[in-house]
Amino acid sequence: MISKETMSRIIIVGAGPAGMMAAIRASQFTPEVVLIEKNSLPGNKLLLSGKGRCNITNNCELEDFLKRFSANGQFLRDAFKKFFNRELIEFFRERGLVLKIERQNRVFPETDRSASIVEVLKKQLVKSRVMTAYNVTVNGLQVKAGKISGVRLESGEVVHVDKVVLATGGVTYSFTGSTGDGLFWAQNSGHKITPIRPGLVALEIRKENFKLPEGLTLKNIRLRFSSGKKEIISEIGEMVFTDFGISGPLVLTLSGQIADWILDKLKIRVEIDFKPALSREQLENRLLREFNDLARKNLDNVLKELLPLSLVKIFLGRLKIPADKKANQVTQQERKAIVDLLKGFNLEIKCTRPLEDAMITRGGVSLKDIDPRTMESRRVKGLYFCGEMIDVDADTGGFNLQAAFSTGYLAGESAALSK
Ligand SMILES: Cc1cc2nc3c(=O)[nH]c(=O)nc-3n(C[C@H](O)[C@H](O)[C@H](O)COP(=O)(O)OP(=O)(O)OC[C@H]3O[C@@H](n4cnc5c(N)ncnc54)[C@H](O)[C@@H]3O)c2cc1C
Repeated sequence: MISKETMSRIIIVGAGPAGMMAAIRASQFTPEVVLIEKNSLPGNKLLLSGKGRCNITNNCELEDFLKRFSANGQFLRDAFKKFFNRELIEFFRERGLVLKIERQNRVFPETDRSASIVEVLKKQLVKSRVMTAYNVTVNGLQVKAGKISGVRLESGEVVHVDKVVLATGGVTYSFTGSTGDGLFWAQNSGHKITPIRPGLVALEIRKENFKLPEGLTLKNIRLRFSSGKKEIISEIGEMVFTDFGISGPLVLTLSGQIADWILDKLKIRVEIDFKPALSREQLENRLLREFNDLARKNLDNVLKELLPLSLVKIFLGRLKIPADKKANQVTQQERKAIVDLLKGFNLEIKCTRPLEDAMITRGGVSLKDIDPRTMESRRVKGLYFCGEMIDVDADTGGFNLQAAFSTGYLAGESAALSK
């Protein structure tokens, strides 16, 4: 436990990647660093990351890296200048953990286990003599005359301190400990919180009269999202059907914008183009060829050459064409209807999955209230923010964790060095 008398120079709240890195960096300048975490262990969300493999960063160049953030990415320039992907990779290498680069520059530990990342951080906390207080919940800040003066613990104790780094994370996957506490304290101490929304989240489809082919992954398809007659976004990539709708890399990447349109009460439809490389004309010619070559075969067997069987069944059900119709009996009208579905399989988006299920929280402490050179609050002296609780978010690919590590590093250093 932390005694009432503790006059620590710096208290860091939250032992996720941002808080652990803040503590490690701060301890290089001052011996008095306390890291408070309400769970019994650090890095609960980090352990889940990258499906348990932890896609810790991305090995692309700074300008490409910044493009993968939503509008606010430029805010991170100073943090990335201090501590970027090369430094993060080196940090782990120096401590005996080799990282490897996979497709699309995604960086993972060679062990393929996020636990190895957490282990290195835990060991370093010990080595750096950071005082860790696990199973301790902070429940408020003490601010006097525009300066931080302490943190209040759930036990009622107040720990007096003149520098506090908040690293309490966002609000999703709350069972890991990220319950938005820091956002609440930031708001209570006069900071603006930009609206909290889900990011990197799957989409629910309005019920159709067929069962979605759950688990079916489709590569190189185009998703075309539209509202009314207006196409609003269209990109090629990989998706997966789930029991409730659609997910997968392309859906997650586009989901933030779609979530905003849904919040704006727009009715959104999605069309899946299963053959984006072929024009309608080319596709119709290909069908004609197949139907001629395989004239005596059942239609479902012919279409299997173009689509997974589970989708063929859904197609033929939707078009009300019997699966055993012979290819040479398919009418021109039916052929055109098949092309229509192949080029634009239409589904209505009902909503996003709940905020709780999103991989990332969009919104958070407004960047107008944070100095990007130090991560210090512009409203409360001695208070610093880092990690997912600030209003930056990015695509999948290791960008969010790098942002947490980099902002943590900068916040820890700034808090330790400020007078
Ligand atoms: C399923 C999943 C997979 C992901 N995979 C990846 C990936 O592969 N690559 C990537 O870049 N990003 C990934 N992310 C996102 C990434 O994990 C987060 O952005 C990152 O963990 C945020 O770090 P943080 O330190 O800001 O917050 P968190 O990791 O959320 O840590 C916050 C900590 O603060 C503690 N805390 C909160 N309130 C209090 C309190 N009142 N008192 C004391 N302690 C408190 C919490 O218990 C928690 O330990 C993934 C997210 C999810 C949900």
